[in-house]
Amino acid sequence: MVKETEYYDRLGVPPEATPEELKKAYRKLALAYHPDKNPDGGEKFKQISQAYEVLSNPKKRLRYDEGGEEALQTGGAGGGFRNPMDIFNMFFGGGMGADDEDDEDDEGGGGGGGGFPFFSKGSFRRGQKKPPPMEHPLVMSLEQLMIGGRRKLKLERKRPCGACQGRGGKPNAFTQTCTSCHGKGVKLTYQQLGPGLVEMHGSCPICGGSGRVIADADRCHVCVGNRTVTDTKISQVHVERGMSQGMRIPLRGEGEQEPGEEPGDVVIIIQEKPHHTFLRRGVDLHMDMKVSLVESLCGFQRTVSTLDGRSLTITKAPGTVLEPGAQMMVRAEGLPLFRNPYVRGDLIIKFSVEFPEKVDSHFVSEFESLFPRPTMSQELTGEEEHVDMMPFEQPEGGLGDRDHSIYDEDKMDTEDQPTGCRQS
Ligand SMILES: [Zn+2]
Ligand SMILES: [Zn+2]
Repeated sequence: MVKETEYYDRLGVPPEATPEELKKAYRKLALAYHPDKNPDGGEKFKQISQAYEVLSNPKKRLRYDEGGEEALQTGGAGGGFRNPMDIFNMFFGGGMGADDEDDEDDEGGGGGGGGFPFFSKGSFRRGQKKPPPMEHPLVMSLEQLMIGGRRKLKLERKRPCGACQGRGGKPNAFTQTCTSCHGKGVKLTYQQLGPGLVEMHGSCPICGGSGRVIADADRCHVCVGNRTVTDTKISQVHVERGMSQGMRIPLRGEGEQEPGEEPGDVVIIIQEKPHHTFLRRGVDLHMDMKVSLVESLCGFQRTVSTLDGRSLTITKAPGTVLEPGAQMMVRAEGLPLFRNPYVRGDLIIKFSVEFPEKVDSHFVSEFESLFPRPTMSQELTGEEEHVDMMPFEQPEGGLGDRDHSIYDEDKMDTEDQPTGCRQS
C-alpha cells in the first residue's frame, strides 16, 4: 500500500504500474504537453516530468511509496527536481550537448549510484584534462530546420603538432627557462564558469608546467616549439528535423587539443534565420495574408508554398465573411516536433483586408441598400463642436509591425538615422 498516489495520478497509472507502463504513460503525456506543442501546458509538463523522474528511479520510487512527497524532500539524495526539458530530451534519445555533462556531475555529487535510468551513457571519462568546448553558430533557414539534414562545417582548432609528436622539438633537445612563467611552471589564468570569469592558478600553457622550454636551436620547424599547430577539418553536422534557435549539437572530440590531453568538444549552436513569409512560434508557423474587400465578403482561393516545397490551396467558400484581422488555422502544416517529427505544429494565417481607396458617390445608395446603416441611437442637440479628422501616420518601424520585430532590431543596428525620424 502506497502512502499517496499523487505522482501516479499525474501519469494516469495505478501504483502497481510496471516501469514499462510508466514509460508509456510519460511518453504520451510529455508529447501532448511539450511547450512547443502546447504553450499553455508548461505547468502540467513540469508536473508529469517530476512524477516520472521520481517513479522511474527505483530508489526514489520506493522512498515515495513509503513516505510520499515529504520523504523525497528529506530523503538525502536531493529534494530538487531536474529541468523537465532535460528529462524530455533524455527520454527521447540522448542529451542536449554540453548540458548533460553538468547534470552528470550533479548526480555524482548525490552519491547514489541509482541515477536517472537514461543517464547511464557514461561516455565521459572523468579526471582527464581537456580544453573547454568551442562554440560554433550554425545559421539555418526554416526550410532546412523543417527537413533536417547534414551540413558541412569547417573547423579550425589547435592540435598537437604531428611533426614532433607534440614535444616541440627533437627527442633529446636542450631546454631553456620558460619566459612565459619565468621558470615557475605556474600561470594565472581565467576560466569561464557560468556567467563569470574565475581566476585560476594553472600550469603554464607554454611549458606545460615544467618551467623549461625547448632551446631555440632544437625547436620543431613546423610548430616552432609551440607543440601545437592549427589544424583545419571539415566536419559533418547532423541537424535534426524541428530543431530551433539556440539548440546545441555536440561534436565530441572535435575541438582543441593540447599534447598529452584529451581532445575537447565542439558545440554547434543553431541560429534560426528569419523567414520572409513565416514566423515561427514553437512548432507553429504564423503568416499574414492580404485579401481584397470583395474576397473578404464573397470568398476566395489562395495557394501557400510550404517550407518543404509543397503547394497548399486554401479556400473560403462564397457567402462566408472574413473579418479584418481574422485568424484561421491549417492543422499539422507547422514544423515537426523535435525528436518526434510525426507530431506537427499548425499553420496560422492572419488576414488583413485591403479596402478600396475611394467609393464612387454613385454607389453609395447601392451599398446602403446592400448593407443597411445601423440606426443612430443618439440624437444631435446642436451643442456639439464640429472638429476635423485627418490621416494619422504611424511612424515607420513602429508598433503596427509586431510580428516582425526581429527585423526592426536589425534596422536599428545598421542605420544611423532611423527613417521614421522626420524633421519638420
Ligand atoms: Zn612556462
Ligand atoms: Zn612540432
